[in-house]
Formats: sequence, C-alpha cells, structure tokens
Amino acid sequence: MAIALIIPDRKLEDLQQRLQHALPTTRIEIWPALTNPAEITFAVLWKQPAGVVATLPGLKALQSFGAGVDGILADTSLPPLPLARIVDPALTAAMLQYLTGIESYYRLRLDTFTAQQQQKQWQPKSSRKLQTLCVLGLGELGTAAALHFQQLGYQVSGWARKQKDIAGIRCYAGNSQLALALAEADLVICLLPLTAQTDNMLDAQVFAMMKPGTIFINVARGAIVDDKALLAALDCGQLQAACLDVFREEPLPPTHAFWSHPAILVTPHTSAVTRVETVVAQIAENYRRSQRGLQLLNQVDLTQGY
Ligand code: NAP
Repeated sequence: MAIALIIPDRKLEDLQQRLQHALPTTRIEIWPALTNPAEITFAVLWKQPAGVVATLPGLKALQSFGAGVDGILADTSLPPLPLARIVDPALTAAMLQYLTGIESYYRLRLDTFTAQQQQKQWQPKSSRKLQTLCVLGLGELGTAAALHFQQLGYQVSGWARKQKDIAGIRCYAGNSQLALALAEADLVICLLPLTAQTDNMLDAQVFAMMKPGTIFINVARGAIVDDKALLAALDCGQLQAACLDVFREEPLPPTHAFWSHPAILVTPHTSAVTRVETVVAQIAENYRRSQRGLQLLNQVDLTQGY
C-alpha cells in the first residue's frame, strides 16, 4: 500500500515528509517516480496529467490538494472513485484576507489613485460608498465571505443552488432567483465551483442583471466568466471595475486583453493557496478512511461535480 502525490507544478518534499510523519508505515511517493504503480491505493492530485490516474489499478480513493475539483474531474479517463477536497479554516482565512484587501482597494479608490499617479494628477476624491454586496456560491468560502462582509456593515445577499437560511444574509436559490440576488449589489463576489452548470454562466445576460456600476470580483474559476461579455460590460460602464484572480487559461496569456484593461485588476491566482502544514492531517485521515472503506472527509458529490 502506498500513496502517490501527483502534483506536477509544485515542490512536494515538504508534503511528502509531513505525510510520512503522519503515516509512518505507508510509503509516500512522488509521481512519476513510483516504485510499483499497482501498490498505489490513494492519490493526492492537483493539475494531474490526463490519463495518469487511470494507470493506477489499485486506487481506492482520490484527494484533491485544493478546494476545487474541476481540474481533476476534467480528466475524462478518471475512474469513478470517492474524491475528497480540501476544506481548511486557514484557507478560508486567507480568502477573507484577500477579499477584505480588495474591498478596501476599491472603497478607498486606490484603483483611481494608482491611475492618477501614473499621470501625475492630484485629484482628491472621497471614498466610494459601497454598501451592498452579493456572494455567488454559499458553500464553505461563500458563506464565510457573506458573514464577514455582513459583520463589516454590508447588506449582503447570497445565491446558491439550494435554498439557505443564514442569519443576516438574504439568501436566494436557483437560476430563477439570480437576478434578485444580484439586483442591489455594489460588489459581486464569485465563489461558485466550476461545473457543467456554471461553465460560462456569467455572461452578458447575467452582467445585465447587475446594478449599473457594480464592481465584480472573481476568486472562483476563470471559465465561469464569459471573457468577452465581461470586457463588453466594463467598456459600456455596466460594470465599473473587475478584480480577477482566476482565468480561463493560467498563466494569463501575455496577449490577453485583461492585462491592459484600465478597469481590471489582475492577481495571479493567489487569493487562497493550500498550505501543506494545515492540510496534512485531513489528507492522512482520508487515507486511513479510504483503506477502511469509510466515507471521506469533505467528499465531493460526483453527480454535481463539486
Ligand atoms: P463549496 O463549499 O462546494 O460551495 C459551492 C457553492 O456554490 C455552494 O453553495 C453551491 O450551492 C453553489 N453552487 C454550485 N453550483 C451552483 C449552481 N449551478 N447554481 C448556484 N449555486 C451553485 O465550495 P467552496 O469551498 O466554497 O469553494 C468555491 C470555489 O472557490 C471552489 O470550487 C474553487 O473553484 C474556488 N476556490 C478558489 C481559490 C483561489 O485561490 N482563487 C481558492 C479556493 C477555492 P449549494 O450550497 O446549494 O450546493
């Protein structure tokens, strides 16, 4: 029995050592250097090359190294095994810190003043009056964000697939209520998972549901947004600004219009990055559960794709 770490874009020695410490009798191996692929019973995945998981016949369960699973499920040869994702208070805290910083950036008009500095313009302006906020997706991160901004004094609405009851938050559910959720918001934060239903969901029609002058923040996945519709909504003033941390193609290609658009702030997928030290315990626990055939912590509903 052994665990494979299949995460090509990351140095894995720290994760390997910490998992080895938590599971002293289990071999922890870094793909592609696997001693015997048939002995791998559990795999930790992030941006795994398509087809690799299907070459491991002894797998009992899969673990995403992040909160999202869209990249893992995109592999059409993936066997239908139990799949868990990361839910971690430290990841949530990092996301709230990022969103708080972005909210301050716009409230204090730092976007405007940065542009003015480049022109050596001295034009004082009072802060933006941002009072209403909508969170798309009321899961682990969305609910935390909604409550955080409600505590900061915002009137908050939230939108999910199933109806929620969260004290202090106006909750809406399903496509028929999306316009209601968005209608009043000065700021819209996207925290939806990328699934067949949300792919390209934020299109011209949805941007038109927003209040003119809304500021849009995407910290979920780039492919949820129709890039051309976003640019058009910014160019006509329907949206005032957009902060984008995630993109359809990452790294964002140098020729992409988002880089140089004056109303777009680009950050390189840094809003909430998994930290090895805070997630090792749940990965080790999921390995133990998988070997006993138990339900995993934070197991994904494969029929919904999140
Ligand atoms: P989660 O707990 O699975 O929550 C997902 C939420 O989206 C749920 O409230 C769900 O509704 C809602 N939803 C899903 N499909 C929907 C649909 N078709 N219509 C309406 N609502 C829908 O996920 P999470 O942990 O909060 O994370 C959300 C996403 O953030 C992840 O999938 C990941 O892509 C992204 N993320 C990005 C970063 C980054 O660094 N930028 C870091 C972490 C996560 P129900 O509650 O009704 O099921």
